[in-house]
Amino acid sequence: MTASTLMAPAGQTVIVGSTGFIGRFVAEACLASGRPTYLLVRSGSISTSKSKTIKCLQDKGAVVVHGSINDQESMEKFLKENEIEVVISAVGGESISDQLVLIDAIKAVPTVKRFLPSEFGHDIDRADPVEPGLRMYNEKRKVRRRIEEIGIPYTYICCNSIAAWPYYDNTHPADVLPPLDRFQIYGDGSVKAYFVAGTDIGKFTIKTLDDARTINKKVHFRPPSNYLNINELATLWEGKIKRTLPRVTVTEDDLLAAAKEMRIPGSVVASLTHDIFIKGCQINFSIDGQTDVEICSLYPEIPFCTMDECLDEFLKKTLEVPKGIGEQMVEEAKEEVIAVKKPRQE
Ligand code: NDP
Repeated sequence: MTASTLMAPAGQTVIVGSTGFIGRFVAEACLASGRPTYLLVRSGSISTSKSKTIKCLQDKGAVVVHGSINDQESMEKFLKENEIEVVISAVGGESISDQLVLIDAIKAVPTVKRFLPSEFGHDIDRADPVEPGLRMYNEKRKVRRRIEEIGIPYTYICCNSIAAWPYYDNTHPADVLPPLDRFQIYGDGSVKAYFVAGTDIGKFTIKTLDDARTINKKVHFRPPSNYLNINELATLWEGKIKRTLPRVTVTEDDLLAAAKEMRIPGSVVASLTHDIFIKGCQINFSIDGQTDVEICSLYPEIPFCTMDECLDEFLKKTLEVPKGIGEQMVEEAKEEVIAVKKPRQE
């Protein structure tokens, strides 16, 4: 990267949604980068695990501010008083439209140089899932259009799938271990996708903030080492656990039926699973170079955590599960853990 492509490091950054699944990765990376980091946290009853997350982030230097993006006046006041330069939102599916109020607050604050709305998935102008995923995409599309209409400098993070077994009926797959009993294979299992570690989603999101090449761009995460179809993913995991598991086909109709049940959020995940593993929404377009940039081309010197390494981490967690796994498997897998590479220092 040349100096001319970099801007002076931006300053104060606020993260909305740091107690959430994706937001925590982003907050951790923001703090690790040394940026002054504020966390906007909703008041009210906070679960023990969320309190622990907040405490952990505070211990790393985060400043907690209580509030909600629904409150335009308070948001505007906070952004102005603290001369916030970057706003990152990682609100969940049910709060996507609330960002329209946040955008109106940002509009009135000239210090804000960049807004990253809650995207962290597919390019929602290209992908076209069935309902109820479509509803969420339509809300995300409205957020994009409003940002562009007002002229707030933005970056849309299209990081594709989180690195984990892509359960079609689980909201946050990285919280769940890959299968130990059977694989569910979508269709013929041949459609590829990109699987990115949560820590890399956080790290590379933060890298884009100071980079002029990512202003008003969609940033696509397409690391070649993490490009697999579900058959390949299953084989990789079988190599880790040193066992072959039965493969059960989940057909396109099965996924569409699960989506049609309209259970929120489960049916949203089923509709997105259909879009990824049947329709190929992550790979059925090429990056046009005008409004798109690919993350590996921006930072070729920084490696991604490979899917192989991510599965090593899952294997370690598998061994922490005390019951329900065969003794033999545990013994065999221990050998594998000894060989697990240490986390990289970057
Ligand atoms: P979560 O539901 O886990 O977390 C949402 C966060 O937003 C919580 O911290 C919540 O706070 C906060 N929040 C919600 N509304 C408000 C508000 N009005 N004001 C302030 N804070 C608010 O979200 P996810 O991490 O699941 O989703 C974040 C984004 O990532 C979404 O766009 C989603 O589509 C995407 N995603 C992508 C995945 C992938 O594989 N690529 C996987 C999962 C999500 P509180 O604690 O108060 O509830």
